[in-house]
Amino acid sequence: VDKHILFHELRDALRHDTCPICSIVENRIKKAINIFLHEGIGDAETRNAYIKAKGYCNYHAWKLREAGDPLAHAILYKELLEHHKRDIESYLEQKRNASSRNPSRSLSSLGMFRKKGRFLDGKEYLIKESNTAPKQCLLCVTVKDVEKRYLQSLPVFFEQDEQFKNDYVNRGVLCNPHLRKLVDWNEPSEALAGILEIQLGRLDINIDHLEEIQRKANYQHSYKEPGAERGGWIRAVNLYVGSPGIENTFEHDKV
Ligand SMILES: [Zn+2]
Ligand SMILES: [Zn+2]
Repeated sequence: VDKHILFHELRDALRHDTCPICSIVENRIKKAINIFLHEGIGDAETRNAYIKAKGYCNYHAWKLREAGDPLAHAILYKELLEHHKRDIESYLEQKRNASSRNPSRSLSSLGMFRKKGRFLDGKEYLIKESNTAPKQCLLCVTVKDVEKRYLQSLPVFFEQDEQFKNDYVNRGVLCNPHLRKLVDWNEPSEALAGILEIQLGRLDINIDHLEEIQRKANYQHSYKEPGAERGGWIRAVNLYVGSPGIENTFEHDKV
């Protein structure tokens, strides 16, 4: 994507109460799914990459499912289920070989697999084959690319373009996961500090709305029509975890 398109896309995505990175990611995934369904299924290379990654992650598999297209799903999932079946079959076959006490004493007659220089028994093999994929979910890879490109551009545009900066001051906000990535992927700068200051102001407003919801719930007699806090609890979810499908896990201290 050329810098110009990137700039306009990011500026257009600046909307009140909406993380621009989340909305760009959502659009990009929608597009990628469309392209995959209309051109990718018929293209052996694209299809193989999908199969090699063992399909999509749970979230993106359901996104693809929402697009409908029974035929595409029949083609893709037939292959995925066949792979799944083969893993189980080879496990059972090895077990059978092991118990038939084949005098050849070959590896397979002992129920062992050789994998990357290691000997695995049938169970280890099945677990390894079922739990690993040579590639990540391709849409998750797309998400990460988009996040990185746009989050690294954000402080640059903020610093270099007065209009962009104004727009960001007026309505810029990031979800928690994207704010953390912004800090992680950029060197400290005035622009970055400015973006963080703005974020603090946005958080204050959101926290006020949540307090207002609690306050009104506590005084039901004087219950008033919801004001600016209306929907604040949903905005808080978006703000704290990002939109659906955004990776927001924290590292956990080892016990
Ligand atoms: Zn976000
Ligand atoms: Zn994914």
